[in-house]
Amino acid sequence: MVVVVKCKKCGEEFPSKLVQTANEEALKKFTFQSNNEICLSCGQQSSYSLNDYFWKL
Ligand SMILES: [Zn+2]
Repeated sequence: MVVVVKCKKCGEEFPSKLVQTANEEALKKFTFQSNNEICLSCGQQSSYSLNDYFWKL
């Protein structure tokens, strides 16, 4: 599985940099901070909260 996030600008899904470190413990910490991700499709940088992330098979 990978962690993906949907771009706020173009709506494309792209793999999060969290994918490298994602585990339950990391996700708990993650709820307390926002995270910047850069869309692979359009280059838009936005901050995302935990609710914006989801697992994809
Ligand atoms: Zn985008």
